[in-house]
Amino acid sequence: MMPSTRLANLIDGRLQAPVDNRWLDIHEPATGVVFAHCPDSTAADVDAAVKSAQKAAPGWASMPSEERARLINRLADLVEARLEEFAALESRDSGKPVALARRLDIPRAVSNLRFFAAAIIAWDSESHAMESGAINYTLRRPLGVVGCISPWNLPLYLFTWKIAPALASGNTVVAKPSEITPCTAALLGELSIEAGFPPGVLNIVQGRGPTTGQAIVEHPAIKAVSFTGSTRTGASIAATAAPQFKKVSLELGGKNPAIVFADADLSDQNLDTIVRSGFANQGEICLCGSRLLVQRSIYDSFRERYLARVKALRVGDPEEASSDLGALVSREHFDKVMGCIAQARDEGGQILIGGHALSPTGRCAEGWFIAPTVIDGLPNETATNQQEIFGPVVTLIPFEDEADAVAIANGTGYGLAASLWTTDLSRAHRMGAQLDFGIVWINCWLLRDLRTPFGGTKQSGVGREGGAEALRFFTEPRNICIRY
Ligand code: NDP
Repeated sequence: MMPSTRLANLIDGRLQAPVDNRWLDIHEPATGVVFAHCPDSTAADVDAAVKSAQKAAPGWASMPSEERARLINRLADLVEARLEEFAALESRDSGKPVALARRLDIPRAVSNLRFFAAAIIAWDSESHAMESGAINYTLRRPLGVVGCISPWNLPLYLFTWKIAPALASGNTVVAKPSEITPCTAALLGELSIEAGFPPGVLNIVQGRGPTTGQAIVEHPAIKAVSFTGSTRTGASIAATAAPQFKKVSLELGGKNPAIVFADADLSDQNLDTIVRSGFANQGEICLCGSRLLVQRSIYDSFRERYLARVKALRVGDPEEASSDLGALVSREHFDKVMGCIAQARDEGGQILIGGHALSPTGRCAEGWFIAPTVIDGLPNETATNQQEIFGPVVTLIPFEDEADAVAIANGTGYGLAASLWTTDLSRAHRMGAQLDFGIVWINCWLLRDLRTPFGGTKQSGVGREGGAEALRFFTEPRNICIRY
């Protein structure tokens, strides 16, 4: 990280201050204290980045894919060599436990880079022979300059999940991390210079969504936008991009069910995974199971065991290895989640555990902490069970049988991920086909193979990321037909 607390934009291979010299405060969620400043970039900064990316595009696209892969792997090596520094920075910036950043976020960012560096070399194109004496082959060309916009919950993890396939497939990139968690992307930008990326191939413009982000989406030279964030912003991006016929990939919110059948193997290990699926990263993961559906015949006994485990979760200073949960990412988000808990009470929900803010002693006394909260007694139709809360809040909902479980699980506007706990193999396959979600985990959660399609249905988004899906998104197929 730069010696000053001011982060920089990466434009044209150089670290630069924003044109208007305006800066945003970056808070440490665990303490509420401002510890850095981030460029408050404008359309002028985005335009400079786009111009540089346009200049770099032909050279990058024509570079052999092995060479592009070598540079991306070099960047991965540099991140890995400074894993501890990245993990500490990610934790400080987002409030997540440093242990989680060390175990999940940063290693996964390294894997994203390495995965797409390898994938581009292994990627093959299709050909279709015609009996009448012709052959078609599909030529896939990079799009040119693309925009990548990522959220605050898994900052470097999701940032690299976008820029890695975009760069590997030969595009130049103008990327914006969330203004709430800009630090690790800024450090990655510095390392991309050290890795030897040609100027303009990767540009990182920091700033606010409605200004910097909007300027990226609007810019006529940006051919595609890969976005992860809220459904509301996704809708606005789709509306801006559509008249320009831009490709968009939208990975949006979720209201995911975790479904526990009476025949499930509820070993301690599995129960821990079910707890983790609701509360990992303070519940600030789009894939968290925030509606826990439990078959009525085991509802009472399950609830007792589940609550005992939730009660044992330790909320505290993200820097401490013993903390299972840290702080929520911002004051604004803290207020939103507390508001959702108040709404659940108003709707008649019974708070079984938590439901209040926490003030860990010492340096974290002013931080934005919320106790893990479990609520029951609310029908699926209530706002609490329909709206994404994105915090450490899980609702328990009983169900009678398989049909009832499917109806409740699918009874939401979202369709990102579901998890299913059962030992009945036939049921697992049947429900896998019936659950209207982009991902269905059976007897597991967050088990990710980077080759698989990733994304959601309904209000959870449009398009898929991951593996060949991402490489397809970032390229334009051309059919070449040769008669012989
Ligand atoms: P937002 O939609 O508020 O922001 C996401 C990104 O978009 C940020 O970089 C933000 O900038 C930027 N942005 C905001 N407004 C605009 C705009 N008008 N034009 C262009 N860019 C804009 O989401 P959050 O950051 O609050 O992230 C949480 C949401 O992300 C949750 O709904 C969660 O479910 C979803 N999510 C989905 C995932 C998935 O894979 N489906 C994975 C992870 C999260 P800034 O923050 O600087 O304002």
